[in-house]
Amino acid sequence: MSDHSPLYIQNSLTREKELFTPLNAPYVGMYVCGPTVYSNVHLGNVRTFLTFDIVYRYLSFLGYQVRYVRNITDVGHLTGDSDDGEDKIGKKARLENLEPMEIVQKYTNDFHDVMRIFNIKSPSIEPSATGHIVEQIEMVKQIITRGYGYESNGSVYFNVRKFNEDFPYGQLSGRKIDDLLSNTRVLDGQDEKNDPLDFALWKKADASHLMKWPSPWSEGFPGWHLECSVMSTKYLGNSFDIHGGGMDLKFPHHECEIAQNAGATGECNSVGYWMHGNMLTVNGRKMAKSEGNGFTPDELITGNHKLLERGYTAMTVRFFMLQGHYASTLDFSNDALQAAEKGLGRLIKAVQALKDLAATASEHNPDANIDELAKRCETAMGDDFNTPILISVLFDAVKLINNIHDGRVAISANQKDALQNLVHGYFFEVLGLQLEDDASGDSTDEAESLLDLLVQLRSDAKSNQDWTTADSIRQALSDLGVTIKDGKDGSTWNRD
Ligand code: AMP
Ligand code: ZN
Repeated sequence: MSDHSPLYIQNSLTREKELFTPLNAPYVGMYVCGPTVYSNVHLGNVRTFLTFDIVYRYLSFLGYQVRYVRNITDVGHLTGDSDDGEDKIGKKARLENLEPMEIVQKYTNDFHDVMRIFNIKSPSIEPSATGHIVEQIEMVKQIITRGYGYESNGSVYFNVRKFNEDFPYGQLSGRKIDDLLSNTRVLDGQDEKNDPLDFALWKKADASHLMKWPSPWSEGFPGWHLECSVMSTKYLGNSFDIHGGGMDLKFPHHECEIAQNAGATGECNSVGYWMHGNMLTVNGRKMAKSEGNGFTPDELITGNHKLLERGYTAMTVRFFMLQGHYASTLDFSNDALQAAEKGLGRLIKAVQALKDLAATASEHNPDANIDELAKRCETAMGDDFNTPILISVLFDAVKLINNIHDGRVAISANQKDALQNLVHGYFFEVLGLQLEDDASGDSTDEAESLLDLLVQLRSDAKSNQDWTTADSIRQALSDLGVTIKDGKDGSTWNRD
C-alpha cells in the first residue's frame, strides 16, 4: 500500500472527524444500501451512489483492497412508514400485471445502465434481499432467542424498549426514545405491536400479497431493515469498516439495523464509520419521485423535462455533483450545470494538452511544483473526501499546464511525467471523469475555439487599421451575448 497522507472520515455515529484506521488493513469492508428496484433511478439516487463511488475509488487509489457490497432491495420495502402499506415492488407488479421478479429485473437493469452512464463502478458483491431469506429468518430467530423479538399473530417485532434497557437506541440519528414516542401514533388495540416504537422483523402476508416465503411464524416476508443487517455481516463479518447510504436512511433504516445487529449478537457498534450522503434538492426540496422533481438520467441527457433548459452530458452532471461536498445538500440548477459544463471543458482541454507539453533539459524547474500540488490533492481527499477542494487544486494544475503550454513556465521531463500522473490519477481514477463521453463538452470546446479565432481576427483587423471589420466582429459577438475586452496583454472574450 502506498505511503499516503492520513485520511479523516466524518463518522455519523460519533459526529467526529476520525482518522481512518481499517480493522484489517490493507483490506477494507464497505457496505452501501442499494436501490429499491421498483422504479427508474432518479438523479438524487445517483448522487448517493456517486458519493460512495468516490469513497470506493479513493480507498482503492490509496492502495486498500476494498470489498464493496451494495445490495439490491427487492422485497420488504413498504409504501407506509410504520410497517404498513403494500410492498413497493409487489404494488408495481400488481399495477403493471407483471411478476414481481420482472419488475425487479427491469429496474435492476435500469439501475445498472444508469451506473454505467455515470461511470459509477460496480461493487465487488451485489446481493439481493430475496436471495437471503434463509439468513434473514436465522437472524430473526437469534434476536428472539436473545429476548429482543416477539411473535404476534404470525409476525415478529423488535422490542425497542427492552433493547434500550441494555443498549443505547437512537444514537445514530440522535433521537431519544421518549421523543420518538411522542411522534408515533397511539396503538388502536387492533395492532399486533406491543409498543408503537417496535418495528417488524417478519410480517405475515395476507392472501393478496405476492412475495412470500415459509417461516417458523407464518408465510410472510422480512422487514425492510433486516436485509442490510444480514447481507452486510454475511459478506463483511460482524465488524466491518464503512457503512453508507443517503441521509434519509439514518432513521429508521440504519438505526434499526444497528439495533438488530446488537440484538442478534449481543455486541454493539459493529461498524467503524457510518457515512451519509446528503440530498440533491431542487429549489430547496429533496429530489424525489413523489415530488415530481425527480428526473431520470435519460430526461437529463435529452433535456426532456420541464425543469431542464436543455440536455447535459452524464460527465457534466458528475462534475457538477463533485463540486459539492457529499455531506452538504446540493441544489440542482441549470445555471450551475452550465457553469460545470464550462469548468469541465477547461479541465478536459488541459488533460488533453498535457501530453504535448514541451519538456526542458534541466532537471528541476522550481516554478512547477508538482509535489506541492500532489500534497494538496491528498490533503483535500484526506479531509473527508473533499472533492470541491480537490477540483480547485486541479484548476491550479490547469493554470500551470496553460503556463507551460504558453512558454511562461518551464518543466523537465520528470516533472512532466509527475504532472501527467497526478492529473490523470485524480481526473480519471479518483473523480472517475471521462473524456470521450463528453459530447457537449466537445461542442463547448469547439465554440470556445471559434470565439478565440474571431477575437484574433478582430485583433488582426485592428492592427491593420481595418476598423469596419473590427467593429462588425465586436457587434456580431455582442449580439450573441459575448463581450470583447481589450487589455494590455491582448483581447479576451466573456459570455454575458
Ligand atoms: P431508494 O431506492 O429510495 O431506497 O434510494 C436509494 C438511495 O438513494 C438511498 O441511499 C437514498 O438515501 C438515496 N436518495 C434518495 N433520494 C435522494 C436525493 N434526493 N438525494 C440524494 N440521495 C437520495
Ligand atoms: Zn440498507
